[in-house]
Amino acid sequence: MAASGKLSAFRLPPLPTIREIIKLFKLKAVKQLSQNFLLDLRLTDKIVRKSGNLTNAYVYEVGPGPGGITRSILNANVAELVVVEKDTRFIPGLQMLSDAAPGKLKIVHGDALTFKVERAFPGSLKRQWEDDPPNVHIIGNLPFSVSIPLIIKWLENISCRDGPFVYGRTQMTLTFQKEVAERLTANTGSKQRSRLSVTAQYLCDVQHIFTIPGRAFIPKPEVDVGVVHFTPLIQPKIEQPFKLVDKVVQNVFQFKRKYCHRGLGMLFPAAQRLESTGRLLQLADIDPTLRPCQLSIAHFKSLCDVYRKMCDEDPHLFAYNFREELKQIKSNNAEKEHVEDNHRL
Ligand code: SAM
Repeated sequence: MAASGKLSAFRLPPLPTIREIIKLFKLKAVKQLSQNFLLDLRLTDKIVRKSGNLTNAYVYEVGPGPGGITRSILNANVAELVVVEKDTRFIPGLQMLSDAAPGKLKIVHGDALTFKVERAFPGSLKRQWEDDPPNVHIIGNLPFSVSIPLIIKWLENISCRDGPFVYGRTQMTLTFQKEVAERLTANTGSKQRSRLSVTAQYLCDVQHIFTIPGRAFIPKPEVDVGVVHFTPLIQPKIEQPFKLVDKVVQNVFQFKRKYCHRGLGMLFPAAQRLESTGRLLQLADIDPTLRPCQLSIAHFKSLCDVYRKMCDEDPHLFAYNFREELKQIKSNNAEKEHVEDNHRL
């Protein structure tokens, strides 16, 4: 205990810089793994500051690499930091950080796509969903190819309140290609509005908190990077199973520039398409000539609620996939042509 009676803040002792760590351990970025490193500690401090108050927090960092963000997290006075890194070359440099922060940093060599966050921290951290978010945070600067599947998986976890969300409404601060950050936060009517916007916003408060210019990374990626903060909502704006919402949203946005009835029609088998699409739109009270980007979350809620009722009435409907039907029609036609050719010969 410090003389003032307050707990003294933890600071890492002087260490080689990230640039020196990269040189020391010969950590040349691997292009196939889309590795781009942040060396400027003012920027990594800013990401950490914007992720919330981390005092005594339990933090999970995805893809620490040479450890820039890792240092900033440790300097934020956290209780514990678990990092998961796929590339073994980074482990010795991270071990150096672990030695400098005894008992605080746990290094896992693994894959963020399969790591079980729900087993990483003490069960005593769990909060009720309706309470304030728990003192558990997820932070990461991941390759774009990993951050999209990961956020979709985590959004589904939010909907089911499992995975990292067994602790309650765990907050996440993650980087994305700027254009993806804009899609995640796009409002109704904006041209960036997409499947990601609706899926993220019906479950979370989503904020694009700042943009990092590509030149801040080594090597420089071709695009700028958006830092996005997610706080799961107490009450999701659509209360239907994730897979159902995702099916409706995905169908609508597959014909992004057409009227919304076009994509919605694909929820139904060809034989009943016209009639069922009309019924869905009428019961949901949606103008069929709205474009997908003009549909608000409230519109999607009505569509999902009505589609759910239609699925309850027809137990085969949810499993229907128009691509499979198309494939079947094509293969039937090919077979018919083959038989006709044989008759002609
Ligand atoms: N966080 C570091 C920084 O900001 O400088 C490194 C960022 S680099 C864009 C992404 C890091 O994620 C790399 O260290 C890479 O090896 C790691 N990575 C890539 N795919 C991963 C996965 N599936 N699981 C865990 N780590 C992964």
